[in-house]
Amino acid sequence: MTSGTIINIQKYSIHDGPGIRTTVFLKGCPLKCWWCHNPESQSYKQEIMFFEERCIKCKACEGKCQQQAIRINDSFPIVNRKKCILCGECANFCPNNAREYVGKNITVKDLMKEIQKDEIFYEESGGGVTFSGGEPMVQIDFLNEVLKNCKDMDIHTAVDTSGYTNWKNFNKIIDKVDLFLYDLKLMNNEKHLKYIGVPNNSILENLKKLSDIGANIFIRMPIIAGINDDNEHIIESIKFLSSLNIMQINLLPYHKMGMDKYKRLGLDYNLSGMEKPTDERMIEIANEFKSSGMKIKIGG
Ligand code: SF4
Ligand code: SF4
Repeated sequence: MTSGTIINIQKYSIHDGPGIRTTVFLKGCPLKCWWCHNPESQSYKQEIMFFEERCIKCKACEGKCQQQAIRINDSFPIVNRKKCILCGECANFCPNNAREYVGKNITVKDLMKEIQKDEIFYEESGGGVTFSGGEPMVQIDFLNEVLKNCKDMDIHTAVDTSGYTNWKNFNKIIDKVDLFLYDLKLMNNEKHLKYIGVPNNSILENLKKLSDIGANIFIRMPIIAGINDDNEHIIESIKFLSSLNIMQINLLPYHKMGMDKYKRLGLDYNLSGMEKPTDERMIEIANEFKSSGMKIKIGG
């Protein structure tokens, strides 16, 4: 039985596709978006998150670490990441849950048991299951098998993807996906490389192919002031998207909700001074899309 690594199963989601949904967050992503609000989903490996506000400086973790990877002086624990083998013992023994293990291996069978628990809500609300991340396509065999099980049970499926993958991966799953939630972040390739870490050509090509074969697609566009809220990007996006078969576009204003997670993972956050776009600018952008005849929604 195939298994995969997930970070969370979120119940009763209402922003990840139609109706009430169960959203499964898979771990691992080839992109490094500066504004990512789920940085714990980027690494393919399991990780330890440290919640400073919960730490009572009891030093229990220091004593439990067989690798001598934790050092505590008068302050909070400092982890030597080169020595840490992610065994999770410090998290198990922390009396105040200040250290949390992120990433859980789960079999398809066990995940399906979780998904099936909410079937009544899917039926009543027209909902289903959404696979998000991270980038769910990086665990393609696991994703494919769970999708197959969902389809066998007649559960509506959505895949939230950056589109940054080989077309052959889309081909594997396409007959089992009722809806793609497809991210479109930057049309300019240079900016895409700078802010996301990879080129955008395969992302745009895969989106066009999905549209050509008649897949159901919602576009998700994060809007980040000073990075992709300029007229040039908006006009280019409208030109590209209006040539495709897109059901709806969701404009997602940047928010800072993931910022604390960077600190908890010992990572740098590149956008610490960034503010969310103004409501006026979001409405202007939405109106630009509307005037091109596209169905638009601000928010998820
Ligand atoms: S995860 Fe294991 S090796 Fe890493 S700091 Fe905690 S106890 Fe030490
Ligand atoms: S065991 Fe938990 S509370 Fe105690 S020092 Fe370590 S992280 Fe802080």
